[in-house]
Amino acid sequence: MNDPIAGLVRPEVLALQAYHVPDAARLIKLDAMENPYGWPDSLKSEWIEELSGAELNRYPDPRARALAETLREVMEIPADMGLLLGNGSDELIQMLALTVAQPGRKLLSVDPGFVMYRMIGRFVGMDYVGVPLQPDDFSIDLPAVLEAIERGQPALVYLAYPNNPTGNRFDADDLVRIIETSPGLVVVDEAYAPFTDCSFMGLLGDWPNLLVMRTLSKMGLAGLRLGYLVGPPAWLEQIDKVRLPYNINVLTQSSAAFALRHKSVLDEQTQSIRAERAQLFEALTRIDGIRPFPSEANFILVRMPEGQGDAVFAGLKERGVLVKNLNGTHPLLRDCLRVTVGRPEENAAFLAASSAILARLDGA
Ligand SMILES: *Cc1c(COP(=O)(O)O)cnc(C)c1O
Repeated sequence: MNDPIAGLVRPEVLALQAYHVPDAARLIKLDAMENPYGWPDSLKSEWIEELSGAELNRYPDPRARALAETLREVMEIPADMGLLLGNGSDELIQMLALTVAQPGRKLLSVDPGFVMYRMIGRFVGMDYVGVPLQPDDFSIDLPAVLEAIERGQPALVYLAYPNNPTGNRFDADDLVRIIETSPGLVVVDEAYAPFTDCSFMGLLGDWPNLLVMRTLSKMGLAGLRLGYLVGPPAWLEQIDKVRLPYNINVLTQSSAAFALRHKSVLDEQTQSIRAERAQLFEALTRIDGIRPFPSEANFILVRMPEGQGDAVFAGLKERGVLVKNLNGTHPLLRDCLRVTVGRPEENAAFLAASSAILARLDGA
Protein backbone atom coordinates (compact mmCIF):
# COMPACT_ATOMS: atom_id res chain seq x y z
CA MET A 1 0.00 0.00 0.00
CA ASN A 2 2.74 2.47 -0.87
CA ASP A 3 0.96 5.72 -1.63
CA PRO A 4 3.33 7.62 -3.95
CA ILE A 5 1.51 10.89 -3.26
CA ALA A 6 1.79 10.64 0.51
CA GLY A 7 5.37 9.47 0.06
CA LEU A 8 6.54 12.33 -2.14
CA VAL A 9 4.53 15.40 -1.19
CA ARG A 10 6.14 17.37 1.64
CA PRO A 11 4.31 16.71 4.93
CA GLU A 12 3.61 20.43 5.46
CA VAL A 13 1.90 20.56 2.05
CA LEU A 14 -0.09 17.36 2.73
CA ALA A 15 -1.35 18.97 5.95
CA LEU A 16 -2.53 22.16 4.20
CA GLN A 17 -6.05 22.82 2.91
CA ALA A 18 -6.16 24.49 -0.52
CA TYR A 19 -7.43 28.08 -0.38
CA HIS A 20 -11.16 27.62 -0.77
CA VAL A 21 -13.27 30.08 -2.79
CA PRO A 22 -17.03 29.35 -2.62
CA ASP A 23 -19.23 29.57 -5.71
CA ALA A 24 -21.12 32.85 -5.63
CA ALA A 25 -23.33 32.37 -8.69
CA ARG A 26 -26.68 34.22 -8.29
CA LEU A 27 -25.77 35.41 -4.79
CA ILE A 28 -25.22 38.96 -3.52
CA LYS A 29 -21.48 38.73 -3.11
CA LEU A 30 -20.34 40.26 0.17
CA ASP A 31 -17.62 37.77 1.07
CA ALA A 32 -14.37 38.93 -0.52
CA MET A 33 -13.84 42.68 0.07
CA GLU A 34 -14.43 43.54 -3.55
CA ASN A 35 -15.44 47.03 -4.63
CA PRO A 36 -19.05 46.57 -5.87
CA TYR A 37 -18.92 49.38 -8.44
CA GLY A 38 -17.96 49.17 -12.10
CA TRP A 39 -16.75 51.95 -14.37
CA PRO A 40 -18.87 54.45 -16.32
CA ASP A 41 -19.35 53.45 -19.99
CA SER A 42 -17.29 56.36 -21.31
CA LEU A 43 -14.30 55.26 -19.26
CA LYS A 44 -14.75 51.66 -20.38
CA SER A 45 -14.57 52.55 -24.05
CA GLU A 46 -11.47 54.66 -23.47
CA TRP A 47 -9.87 51.70 -21.68
CA ILE A 48 -10.75 49.23 -24.46
CA GLU A 49 -9.30 51.70 -26.96
CA GLU A 50 -6.03 51.79 -25.02
CA LEU A 51 -5.93 48.01 -24.60
CA SER A 52 -6.24 47.49 -28.32
CA GLY A 53 -2.67 48.79 -28.60
CA ALA A 54 -1.30 46.10 -26.24
CA GLU A 55 1.02 43.62 -27.96
CA LEU A 56 -0.02 40.18 -26.73
CA ASN A 57 2.58 38.47 -28.93
CA ARG A 58 5.38 40.14 -26.94
CA TYR A 59 6.55 39.48 -23.41
CA PRO A 60 5.62 42.28 -21.02
CA ASP A 61 8.16 44.87 -19.88
CA PRO A 62 9.92 42.80 -17.18
CA ARG A 63 10.13 45.80 -14.84
CA ALA A 64 6.74 47.30 -15.77
CA ARG A 65 8.46 50.68 -15.92
CA ALA A 66 5.55 52.79 -17.19
CA LEU A 67 3.18 51.33 -14.58
CA ALA A 68 5.79 51.73 -11.81
CA GLU A 69 6.25 55.38 -12.79
CA THR A 70 2.50 56.02 -12.62
CA LEU A 71 2.21 54.20 -9.28
CA ARG A 72 5.00 56.32 -7.79
CA GLU A 73 3.25 59.49 -8.83
CA VAL A 74 -0.33 58.61 -7.95
CA MET A 75 0.38 56.74 -4.69
CA GLU A 76 2.94 59.26 -3.45
CA ILE A 77 5.70 56.73 -2.99
CA PRO A 78 8.78 58.32 -1.36
CA ALA A 79 11.36 59.01 -4.10
CA ASP A 80 14.26 57.46 -2.16
CA MET A 81 12.42 54.15 -1.64
CA GLY A 82 12.45 51.07 -3.88
CA LEU A 83 9.27 49.69 -5.49
CA LEU A 84 8.57 46.04 -6.31
CA LEU A 85 5.42 44.81 -8.08
CA GLY A 86 3.67 41.51 -7.46
CA ASN A 87 0.90 39.48 -9.07
CA GLY A 88 -1.34 40.55 -6.20
CA SER A 89 0.20 41.21 -2.81
CA ASP A 90 -0.15 37.49 -2.18
CA GLU A 91 2.79 36.99 -4.52
CA LEU A 92 4.82 39.57 -2.62
CA ILE A 93 4.07 37.81 0.68
CA GLN A 94 5.49 34.67 -0.91
CA MET A 95 8.54 36.41 -2.43
CA LEU A 96 9.41 37.93 0.94
CA ALA A 97 9.14 34.55 2.65
CA LEU A 98 11.18 32.80 -0.07
CA THR A 99 13.92 35.39 0.37
CA VAL A 100 14.47 34.64 4.07
CA ALA A 101 13.16 31.06 4.52
CA GLN A 102 15.43 28.52 6.18
CA PRO A 103 14.51 25.47 8.27
CA GLY A 104 13.69 26.59 11.81
CA ARG A 105 13.30 30.26 10.88
CA LYS A 106 10.13 31.93 12.07
CA LEU A 107 7.45 34.04 10.44
CA LEU A 108 5.38 35.92 13.03
CA SER A 109 1.99 37.57 12.86
CA VAL A 110 -1.04 38.07 15.08
CA ASP A 111 -4.16 35.88 15.13
CA PRO A 112 -6.82 36.15 13.91
CA GLY A 113 -5.07 37.68 10.92
CA PHE A 114 -4.70 37.28 7.17
CA VAL A 115 -4.63 33.53 6.41
CA MET A 116 -2.03 33.76 3.64
CA TYR A 117 0.75 34.68 6.11
CA ARG A 118 0.33 31.33 7.83
CA MET A 119 -0.23 29.37 4.62
CA ILE A 120 2.77 30.80 2.78
CA GLY A 121 4.94 30.48 5.88
CA ARG A 122 4.09 26.79 5.99
CA PHE A 123 4.72 26.06 2.36
CA VAL A 124 8.06 27.80 2.19
CA GLY A 125 9.10 25.71 5.20
CA MET A 126 9.18 28.38 7.93
CA ASP A 127 7.66 28.03 11.41
CA TYR A 128 4.57 30.19 11.76
CA VAL A 129 4.12 31.96 15.11
CA GLY A 130 0.68 33.52 15.64
CA VAL A 131 0.28 35.67 18.76
CA PRO A 132 -3.37 36.00 19.86
CA LEU A 133 -4.97 39.46 19.75
CA GLN A 134 -6.88 40.79 22.79
CA PRO A 135 -10.30 39.13 22.95
CA ASP A 136 -12.35 42.27 23.69
CA ASP A 137 -11.29 44.61 20.87
CA PHE A 138 -8.72 42.68 18.77
CA SER A 139 -5.96 45.11 19.71
CA ILE A 140 -2.36 43.90 19.88
CA ASP A 141 -1.23 42.20 23.09
CA LEU A 142 2.06 44.09 23.03
CA PRO A 143 3.86 42.31 25.91
CA ALA A 144 2.96 38.92 24.35
CA VAL A 145 4.16 39.98 20.88
CA LEU A 146 7.42 41.47 22.19
CA GLU A 147 8.02 38.33 24.24
CA ALA A 148 7.40 36.11 21.19
CA ILE A 149 9.84 38.23 19.16
CA GLU A 150 12.54 38.03 21.84
CA ARG A 151 12.07 34.28 22.12
CA GLY A 152 11.64 33.32 18.44
CA GLN A 153 13.75 36.01 16.70
CA PRO A 154 11.43 35.90 13.65
CA ALA A 155 13.02 36.63 10.27
CA LEU A 156 9.75 38.12 9.07
CA VAL A 157 6.80 39.85 10.77
CA TYR A 158 3.53 40.62 8.95
CA LEU A 159 0.99 43.06 10.38
CA ALA A 160 -2.11 44.09 8.46
CA TYR A 161 -2.97 47.75 9.10
CA PRO A 162 -6.06 47.75 9.29
CA ASN A 163 -6.36 44.07 10.13
CA ASN A 164 -8.28 41.40 8.20
CA PRO A 165 -10.63 39.75 9.27
CA THR A 166 -11.26 41.96 12.33
CA GLY A 167 -11.36 45.36 10.57
CA ASN A 168 -9.72 47.34 13.37
CA ARG A 169 -6.52 49.33 12.93
CA PHE A 170 -3.75 48.55 15.40
CA ASP A 171 -2.21 51.20 17.59
CA ALA A 172 0.62 52.87 15.63
CA ASP A 173 2.81 53.06 18.75
CA ASP A 174 2.45 49.28 19.21
CA LEU A 175 3.68 48.78 15.66
CA VAL A 176 6.63 51.08 16.25
CA ARG A 177 7.64 49.06 19.33
CA ILE A 178 7.39 45.87 17.27
CA ILE A 179 9.51 47.36 14.45
CA GLU A 180 12.13 48.51 16.96
CA THR A 181 12.26 45.15 18.76
CA SER A 182 12.33 42.95 15.65
CA PRO A 183 15.65 41.55 14.45
CA GLY A 184 14.10 40.80 11.04
CA LEU A 185 11.87 42.48 8.48
CA VAL A 186 8.54 43.98 9.52
CA VAL A 187 6.02 44.29 6.71
CA VAL A 188 3.08 46.61 7.34
CA ASP A 189 0.36 45.29 5.01
CA GLU A 190 -1.82 48.23 3.99
CA ALA A 191 -4.27 46.35 1.78
CA TYR A 192 -7.06 48.52 3.23
CA ALA A 193 -5.23 51.85 2.93
CA PRO A 194 -8.05 53.45 0.87
CA PHE A 195 -10.46 53.01 3.78
CA THR A 196 -8.39 54.60 6.56
CA ASP A 197 -6.51 57.86 6.99
CA CYS A 198 -3.45 56.26 8.61
CA SER A 199 -0.37 54.82 6.93
CA PHE A 200 3.28 53.93 7.54
CA MET A 201 4.26 54.97 4.01
CA GLY A 202 5.53 58.35 5.24
CA LEU A 203 7.65 56.66 7.94
CA LEU A 204 9.62 54.48 5.53
CA GLY A 205 13.33 55.01 6.09
CA ASP A 206 12.92 55.73 9.81
CA TRP A 207 13.84 52.09 10.53
CA PRO A 208 16.01 49.93 8.27
CA ASN A 209 13.71 46.88 8.65
CA LEU A 210 10.35 48.48 7.76
CA LEU A 211 8.56 47.68 4.48
CA VAL A 212 5.06 48.76 3.41
CA MET A 213 2.91 46.54 1.17
CA ARG A 214 -0.23 47.58 -0.68
CA THR A 215 -2.60 46.22 -3.32
CA LEU A 216 -4.99 47.61 -5.90
CA SER A 217 -7.43 44.76 -5.16
CA LYS A 218 -9.53 46.31 -2.42
CA MET A 219 -9.70 49.72 -4.11
CA GLY A 220 -11.55 48.28 -7.10
CA LEU A 221 -9.11 46.30 -9.26
CA ALA A 222 -9.16 42.82 -7.71
CA GLY A 223 -9.37 41.23 -11.15
CA LEU A 224 -6.06 42.72 -12.31
CA ARG A 225 -3.90 41.18 -9.55
CA LEU A 226 -1.47 43.94 -8.70
CA GLY A 227 0.27 44.45 -5.38
CA TYR A 228 3.30 46.57 -4.56
CA LEU A 229 6.02 46.62 -1.96
CA VAL A 230 7.85 49.77 -0.91
CA GLY A 231 11.02 49.99 1.18
CA PRO A 232 14.76 50.49 1.31
CA PRO A 233 16.23 49.72 -2.17
CA ALA A 234 18.91 47.37 -0.77
CA TRP A 235 16.19 45.06 0.60
CA LEU A 236 14.03 45.15 -2.50
CA GLU A 237 17.03 44.35 -4.69
CA GLN A 238 17.39 41.01 -2.86
CA ILE A 239 13.67 40.20 -2.86
CA ASP A 240 13.51 40.96 -6.59
CA LYS A 241 15.80 37.98 -7.23
CA VAL A 242 13.11 35.43 -6.34
CA ARG A 243 10.52 37.11 -8.59
CA LEU A 244 9.59 35.05 -11.65
CA PRO A 245 10.26 37.03 -14.83
CA TYR A 246 7.27 38.81 -16.38
CA ASN A 247 5.09 38.41 -13.27
CA ILE A 248 2.94 41.40 -14.26
CA ASN A 249 1.24 40.60 -17.56
CA VAL A 250 0.72 42.96 -20.50
CA LEU A 251 -2.99 43.50 -19.85
CA THR A 252 -2.47 44.26 -16.16
CA GLN A 253 0.37 46.70 -16.87
CA SER A 254 -1.71 48.60 -19.36
CA SER A 255 -5.04 48.46 -17.49
CA ALA A 256 -3.63 49.36 -14.07
CA ALA A 257 -1.75 52.36 -15.47
CA PHE A 258 -4.94 53.47 -17.21
CA ALA A 259 -7.02 53.05 -14.03
CA LEU A 260 -4.50 54.96 -11.94
CA ARG A 261 -4.60 57.86 -14.39
CA HIS A 262 -8.34 57.96 -13.68
CA LYS A 263 -8.01 57.36 -9.98
CA SER A 264 -10.61 60.02 -9.15
CA VAL A 265 -13.29 57.52 -10.27
CA LEU A 266 -11.95 54.94 -7.80
CA ASP A 267 -11.61 57.60 -5.09
CA GLU A 268 -15.27 58.53 -5.43
CA GLN A 269 -16.24 54.88 -5.09
CA THR A 270 -14.02 54.59 -2.02
CA GLN A 271 -15.75 57.59 -0.46
CA SER A 272 -19.18 56.01 -1.09
CA ILE A 273 -18.00 52.76 0.50
CA ARG A 274 -16.71 54.63 3.55
CA ALA A 275 -20.04 56.43 3.93
CA GLU A 276 -21.94 53.16 3.45
CA ARG A 277 -19.72 51.49 6.04
CA ALA A 278 -20.80 54.06 8.65
CA GLN A 279 -24.47 53.50 7.82
CA LEU A 280 -24.16 49.73 7.84
CA PHE A 281 -22.37 49.83 11.20
CA GLU A 282 -25.08 52.09 12.63
CA ALA A 283 -27.83 49.77 11.37
CA LEU A 284 -26.07 46.71 12.80
CA THR A 285 -25.81 48.27 16.27
CA ARG A 286 -29.61 48.62 16.23
CA ILE A 287 -30.20 44.87 15.75
CA ASP A 288 -30.65 43.14 19.11
CA GLY A 289 -28.29 40.38 20.16
CA ILE A 290 -25.49 40.98 17.66
CA ARG A 291 -22.28 42.99 17.90
CA PRO A 292 -20.54 44.73 15.01
CA PHE A 293 -16.87 45.61 15.58
CA PRO A 294 -15.60 49.06 14.51
CA SER A 295 -13.84 48.91 11.13
CA GLU A 296 -11.40 51.03 9.15
CA ALA A 297 -11.61 48.62 6.21
CA ASN A 298 -14.30 47.92 3.57
CA PHE A 299 -15.90 45.16 5.65
CA ILE A 300 -17.42 44.73 9.11
CA LEU A 301 -16.95 41.82 11.48
CA VAL A 302 -20.19 40.92 13.28
CA ARG A 303 -20.66 38.57 16.22
CA MET A 304 -23.98 36.73 16.07
CA PRO A 305 -25.87 35.49 19.16
CA GLU A 306 -24.10 32.69 21.03
CA GLY A 307 -24.10 29.44 19.09
CA GLN A 308 -25.94 30.97 16.10
CA GLY A 309 -23.11 31.97 13.74
CA ASP A 310 -23.42 28.96 11.43
CA ALA A 311 -27.23 29.18 11.36
CA VAL A 312 -27.21 32.88 10.44
CA PHE A 313 -24.60 32.27 7.73
CA ALA A 314 -26.70 29.43 6.24
CA GLY A 315 -29.89 31.51 6.49
CA LEU A 316 -28.24 34.41 4.67
CA LYS A 317 -27.07 32.13 1.89
CA GLU A 318 -30.57 30.67 1.57
CA ARG A 319 -31.86 34.23 1.19
CA GLY A 320 -29.29 34.94 -1.52
CA VAL A 321 -26.56 36.74 0.45
CA LEU A 322 -23.00 35.38 0.62
CA VAL A 323 -20.80 36.59 3.49
CA LYS A 324 -17.73 34.98 5.07
CA ASN A 325 -18.34 32.56 7.93
CA LEU A 326 -15.45 32.78 10.40
CA ASN A 327 -16.99 30.61 13.10
CA GLY A 328 -14.58 27.79 13.84
CA THR A 329 -11.55 29.43 12.22
CA HIS A 330 -10.18 30.87 15.49
CA PRO A 331 -11.43 30.79 19.11
CA LEU A 332 -11.71 34.61 19.15
CA LEU A 333 -14.02 34.51 16.11
CA ARG A 334 -16.72 32.33 17.63
CA ASP A 335 -20.08 33.05 15.90
CA CYS A 336 -18.49 35.80 13.80
CA LEU A 337 -19.39 36.62 10.20
CA ARG A 338 -17.51 39.10 8.00
CA VAL A 339 -19.58 41.19 5.63
CA THR A 340 -18.05 43.29 2.86
CA VAL A 341 -19.59 46.75 2.43
CA GLY A 342 -21.53 46.60 -0.84
CA ARG A 343 -23.87 48.87 -2.76
CA PRO A 344 -26.64 50.48 -0.67
CA GLU A 345 -29.26 48.01 -1.97
CA GLU A 346 -26.97 45.04 -1.27
CA ASN A 347 -26.33 46.21 2.29
CA ALA A 348 -30.07 46.70 2.75
CA ALA A 349 -30.73 43.15 1.54
CA PHE A 350 -28.12 41.83 3.98
CA LEU A 351 -29.64 43.80 6.88
CA ALA A 352 -33.20 42.73 6.07
CA ALA A 353 -32.19 39.07 5.77
CA SER A 354 -30.19 39.22 9.01
CA SER A 355 -33.07 40.79 10.94
CA ALA A 356 -35.54 38.20 9.63
CA ILE A 357 -33.23 35.28 10.48
CA LEU A 358 -32.47 36.60 13.96
CA ALA A 359 -36.13 37.22 14.71
CA ARG A 360 -36.92 33.63 13.77
CA LEU A 361 -34.04 32.19 15.79
CA ASP A 362 -35.14 34.33 18.72
CA GLY A 363 -38.70 33.03 18.51
CA ALA A 364 -37.64 29.40 18.10
C1 LIG B 1 -6.90 40.88 0.48
C2 LIG B 1 -5.65 41.00 1.24
C3 LIG B 1 -4.40 40.82 0.63
C4 LIG B 1 -4.26 40.21 -0.75
O1 LIG B 1 -4.42 41.08 -1.73
P1 LIG B 1 -4.11 40.69 -3.25
O2 LIG B 1 -3.32 41.86 -3.72
O3 LIG B 1 -5.46 40.60 -3.89
O4 LIG B 1 -3.33 39.43 -3.31
C5 LIG B 1 -3.25 41.03 1.38
N1 LIG B 1 -3.33 41.37 2.66
C6 LIG B 1 -4.50 41.53 3.30
C7 LIG B 1 -4.51 41.89 4.73
C8 LIG B 1 -5.69 41.33 2.61
O5 LIG B 1 -6.85 41.43 3.26
